[in-house]
Amino acid sequence: MPHRRDVFKHAEKLGFGELHFKIDPETQLFAIIAIHNLKRGPALGGCRWRHYDNTGDAIYDALRLARGMTFKSAISHLPHGGGKAVIIRPPKILDKEKYFESFAKFINELGGTYITAADSGTTVEEMDIIAKYTKYVTSTTKIGNPAIYTAHGVLRSIEAAVKFKLGKNSLKGIHITIQGVGQVGYLLAKSCHELGATLTVSDVDEVSTERCKKEFGATVVSPNTIHTIKSDVFAPCALGAVLNHHTISKIHSPIIAGSANNQLAEVSDGHLLHRLGILYAPDFVANAGGVIQASAKYYGDTEEQLTKKIDGIYDTLMTIFERSSKTHKSTSDIADELAMEILEHE
Ligand code: NAD
Repeated sequence: MPHRRDVFKHAEKLGFGELHFKIDPETQLFAIIAIHNLKRGPALGGCRWRHYDNTGDAIYDALRLARGMTFKSAISHLPHGGGKAVIIRPPKILDKEKYFESFAKFINELGGTYITAADSGTTVEEMDIIAKYTKYVTSTTKIGNPAIYTAHGVLRSIEAAVKFKLGKNSLKGIHITIQGVGQVGYLLAKSCHELGATLTVSDVDEVSTERCKKEFGATVVSPNTIHTIKSDVFAPCALGAVLNHHTISKIHSPIIAGSANNQLAEVSDGHLLHRLGILYAPDFVANAGGVIQASAKYYGDTEEQLTKKIDGIYDTLMTIFERSSKTHKSTSDIADELAMEILEHE
């Protein structure tokens, strides 16, 4: 991590943008909103709420995540720029309603340039509180669970990769290994099972794996070995940085497509996968179903329009796979390039 004095330099290097702070001693709200890019529309990005050891870490998290949202929205052809809110969780909150009211007022001060949503640490119920005080919020309880849409997007990603790499139009008989069968992983397992795939799953939570064993006949393996299992598709749906120099050499699946954020530990891990002939569906393309839903609901799209947009992930990935094959560049590099092109020209 760069030295904290270099915030402006670091932000400039990442292509920012704006960085806003709110200090409200009365409610103990200490919040940051990072807006990376507004070219495609108001910045849409979740609100992270957690403890940070220091303010510098929170700022860098906000910057990194906001930039990621610019790429995710662009590649998903959404009318949004990239932004993210980070709230430093205090040891104790005196009045939750007032706390989130204060945060909502902070959002209002930005005049609609930033739209918030639930993210790590915040819930749809908290978005409901925020929605009482600002209209620049999505992913409230009325909007529904994003995991359903994220899982659908991952399914379409797997279908695209299976078509491209294995030349198959169906998941019948395809063996899929899923790391993490929480909200997204479970729904993905369900759809894959319904389409005739064979499943091997792992989770640190035994109740989750047992459910998959019982409902879908899934084989259960330990969390330490799931990535080493020979399968057609490895779907990381739990943690970040699972594709790293230790794990990649042990992966025996020609395809990787899952929902986890930041799957590559390093940029070079994307290159390594490419050199090994493993087709990687870049995470920010494959897991965009949730943000597509958040945007669609914000603008009042119909369910049909929303599904069509999520189905578009299939075509986007096909474009990425084809370009990667033609140019001999990794799919992760191509996805970044494509997002930049959309950002600049579309
Ligand atoms: P979740 O918390 O419901 O599920 C994650 C699961 O992974 C849990 O069941 C957990 O027990 C399990 N897990 C934790 N450590 C593990 C390990 N070492 N090995 C195997 N399993 C482990 O979360 P989710 O909403 O299903 O999201 C899954 C991933 O997808 C996360 O990385 C999340 O950031 C990402 N994502 C989710 C959404 C969404 O709409 N929920 C959208 C985009 C990205």
